[in-house]
Amino acid sequence: MKRPLSVREAASMTGKHPETIAEALRRGDLHGGQRVKGGTWSIREKCLEAWLYGKKCKHQIEGTA
Ligand SMILES: [Zn+2]
Repeated sequence: MKRPLSVREAASMTGKHPETIAEALRRGDLHGGQRVKGGTWSIREKCLEAWLYGKKCKHQIEGTA
C-alpha cells in the first residue's frame, strides 16, 4: 500500500496550487484525513484522482470518509 500524499505532493502531482488543494480539503470536495484537527492533511492517491476528474471517491460515496 502506498503512503498517503501531503498537500504539497498532491499539488505538485496535479499541477495545482497547494492552496487549491487545501481549500478543496476544507470544503470536503477532496477527501483527505487529518490525524489531528488543524493538522497536516494526508490524501490517498485514489481520492485525489477522483477529485481531479470531478468525481467522488469511494469513501465519499460510501460515507466512510
Ligand atoms: Zn477517499
